[in-house]
Amino acid sequence: MNRRSFSKLLFAAPFLRAQDSITVKAGGAEIDVTFRGDFDLSRDALIEWVDLSARSVTAYYGKFPVPHAAVTIAQGRRGRGVSNGRSFGEGGARCRISVGQHSTSDDLKKDWMLTHEMVHWGFPNMPEEHHWIEEGSATYIEPIARAKIGWLRPEQVWGDMARDMWQGLPEQGDEGLDRTHTWGRTYWGGAIFCLMADIEIRKRTHQRKGLEDAFRGINRAGGTIDHDWTLEKAFEAGDKATGTKALMDLYKEMASKPMPVNLNDLWSQLGIRRDGDSVTFDKSAPLASVRSAIC
Ligand SMILES: [Zn+2]
Repeated sequence: MNRRSFSKLLFAAPFLRAQDSITVKAGGAEIDVTFRGDFDLSRDALIEWVDLSARSVTAYYGKFPVPHAAVTIAQGRRGRGVSNGRSFGEGGARCRISVGQHSTSDDLKKDWMLTHEMVHWGFPNMPEEHHWIEEGSATYIEPIARAKIGWLRPEQVWGDMARDMWQGLPEQGDEGLDRTHTWGRTYWGGAIFCLMADIEIRKRTHQRKGLEDAFRGINRAGGTIDHDWTLEKAFEAGDKATGTKALMDLYKEMASKPMPVNLNDLWSQLGIRRDGDSVTFDKSAPLASVRSAIC
């Protein structure tokens, strides 16, 4: 279904205007960037944004997660800002993303969406019932990846998580991540799974490994968006990379029942203190070193 809508867009392209493309090199990969429409920003400014997003994802995965990819930057309907990011795996990793004609460098600097799409490329395509791990991992990893290159400060990453993550908690009648396909459970429920897995891997390996090692392991075993895998295959590859069973153990707890998570308790254990919009870190908290190892 994704492929179909993309083909339609390609078909419509000649009626818009001649395409122009630039190839960006990042993290050992080549990314073909195609522009469609009019933008106040220079090509250089748009390319810089692609490069920044690619470097974030490279920092998380240890290299860019696919050797070749394509990004189509289309003029958005809205005058400013980034919207409508969507990734596809058929025929290789690629995404389409909209940028408003009058967007500024500041709008691109605030953008999380292109990094989110690129995180998707490093993980295999899953059956529909496991869509939560695709969206949850992209939601969880994107800000951490950006913090790794200094694009975001850790205070902002944890502040946003502490503000938004409750949306992924199970509500009345929840039947676990594989069976409850609401927006909150898909994006933030999946992100809670990733945070719990990240903490668990670090605890079990005495901080020698983290979730990024699991994701690098999955990626290096060939798990990319252009490959259809089962969730078990992905988690087994991830667990092998950390020498634990953290992903599979947590999956068993969260797949078909609403495992309760006390997020407020978790933030305080991690040493995250919220004061209005700002966050400070309590370095004496029991999981303070786990927090600082993550971001
Ligand atoms: Zn996504």
